[in-house]
Amino acid sequence: MKCDPTLLRLAQPAFVKSTLIRQLLLPPLIILLVVGLGLAGYLVSESSGIRTLSETGERQLELHARTVESEISKYTYLPSLLELEDSVSSLLSSVGDEHRQGVNEYLEGLNRRSRSRVIFVLDTTGRVQATSNWRDADSFLGEDLSFRAYFQDAVRGEPGRFYGIGSTTGEPGYFLAHGLEEHGKIIGVAVIKVGLDTLEERWQRARLEAFVSDENGIIILSSDPARRLKSVRPLTPQIKERLARSLQYYWWPLNELEPLARETLADGMEKLTFPANSETDQGHQHEVTYLAQTRRLADTPWHFTLLTPLQDLRREAMVQGVLVGVAFSLLAILLIAWNERRKVIATRLAAREALQEANSQLERKITERTADLRASNERLKGQIRERRHAEQTLRHAQDELVQAGKLAAIGQMSTSIAHELNQPLAALRTLSGNTVRFLERGALETASTNLRTMNDLIDRMGRITASLRSFARRGDDSGQASLAKAVDASLQVLANRISECQLQLHRQFDDQQLAIDQTRLEQILVNLVGNALDAMASEPLPQLWLEGERQGDRYRLQVRDNGHGIDAETRKHLFEPFFTTKPGEHGLGLGLTLSASLAAAAKGTLNVEHPANGGTVFILVLPLAFSSTTTADPL
Ligand code: ADP
Repeated sequence: MKCDPTLLRLAQPAFVKSTLIRQLLLPPLIILLVVGLGLAGYLVSESSGIRTLSETGERQLELHARTVESEISKYTYLPSLLELEDSVSSLLSSVGDEHRQGVNEYLEGLNRRSRSRVIFVLDTTGRVQATSNWRDADSFLGEDLSFRAYFQDAVRGEPGRFYGIGSTTGEPGYFLAHGLEEHGKIIGVAVIKVGLDTLEERWQRARLEAFVSDENGIIILSSDPARRLKSVRPLTPQIKERLARSLQYYWWPLNELEPLARETLADGMEKLTFPANSETDQGHQHEVTYLAQTRRLADTPWHFTLLTPLQDLRREAMVQGVLVGVAFSLLAILLIAWNERRKVIATRLAAREALQEANSQLERKITERTADLRASNERLKGQIRERRHAEQTLRHAQDELVQAGKLAAIGQMSTSIAHELNQPLAALRTLSGNTVRFLERGALETASTNLRTMNDLIDRMGRITASLRSFARRGDDSGQASLAKAVDASLQVLANRISECQLQLHRQFDDQQLAIDQTRLEQILVNLVGNALDAMASEPLPQLWLEGERQGDRYRLQVRDNGHGIDAETRKHLFEPFFTTKPGEHGLGLGLTLSASLAAAAKGTLNVEHPANGGTVFILVLPLAFSSTTTADPL
């Protein structure tokens, strides 16, 4: 079976090219997708982590901001309490020093109990009239602090809130100022300075990263000392100058807190990256990224910022990104494997379809061929019928020819027949006349002898006519013949001529039963022997050999003479009808033709051979009739 050529179209160059391009592009595409999805996974994980972290941070922010607020508000009402103290109002109202010491000692005790840094009282000009640290060398008793903003606010009747570094002590602190009233008139200002470094210590202990920035954006409290007194937003030179002149931060340079990267995520929420320092170094990173959440503190212009490191989150996001990449890689591998499997199945299906198509094509072709064969078979049957018909016609014609040949032979022999019959007739006439006379004389013995002779003559004449009749009779294809009888009959027919030429006959054959009509075999033999007699007519010692031998299921009879033989030209036309070399009315040229036809009709053959030592051999081969009894079986 041949493969359908349409299947080979699959291997067209365009298809091969596109497959090649696909195979070349697929690996980098997959790598790109793995990296892209890994990155996306990392970003999604990071942002969701930040969201979770920000929610947690929000609560933390609230908690710690409230702690800061409560720490600050703890001291809010303390300065106003001094209003109730008579010695303070006396000190501020009178010009003398007699109340000062008492107030100093009172403030000293109050300061100790409230755990504040210092408590002092200013007059309306801003000069310190009494202070809790009156014993200290750096006591600012008598100092003019009118330049301080908290004084200016408080003297106007507004609450003074101020974070700054003490101009005398150089210590940072939170100043709360309150205008002391008497009879509705401000007579002085009470100030309490609170140190908030306990908050910082608490943050550090809790490993919390946080800072508080004031209204100027300067970090006043920080868990990381390195960030302290740095500005969280850019300061213009004018603002810097103003702040320097106010001495709020003493002589600190007020540098900006410069993050390496800053990203605003939402209102009050930023992502800040700082260079890592030895104290806050987490591992060995060069930079640390924080989620910065800022909230304004109540009752102050300050802001509390909580910093949550994002390193763990990033590590987790990175792991998740890698996991996404790996998962996609696995998925891609699975998809590729599935696709390959699908292709294999598709190829198998295509091959099966092609096979089925080829099978159905084959079946179609077989059906067509069968139809062709049936048609040609029908044609052959028709031809066979025609041939049979032609054979029948031929056989009929052959029969007719045989008959004609026989009649012709009879015609030829008519002279001999007449001679043969006239002689006994003349003898009969003479004998009958003589017999009459012998009877008249009473010579009965002689008369009866004559009558016996006449009987013999009549028998002979009967035999002649009988053989002629049997020769002229029509035969048929079936039947069987006795070879010996046929030879005898043919010799009987030709007996006259045989006796004329003094023929020497050699009989060397068995009496076989042959599958041919008896009459037809006799006719063949008459023809062959007759021709031999003709050929030997001028031979002084004519000899005829009839030699037979069995060949399997056939019998071969040779009719050999020592006549003149057949020349080369005659050999070519020997079996042609009406070919004869015999002069005048003597030959009809039908003998051999008819004999060969009769032999062929009996499924036998008639051939000729030309012996080197002269003469002619006709070889008649006929099938044996097995049903008959054979007299001799050489096998
Ligand atoms: P016919 O005997 O009427 O001529 P045949 O067909 O019997 O027709 O013979 C054809 C010719 O074959 C004869 O004319 C003769 O020349 C040649 N022929 C046949 N038999 C012999 C033979 N035994 N020897 C020589 N010639 C023969």
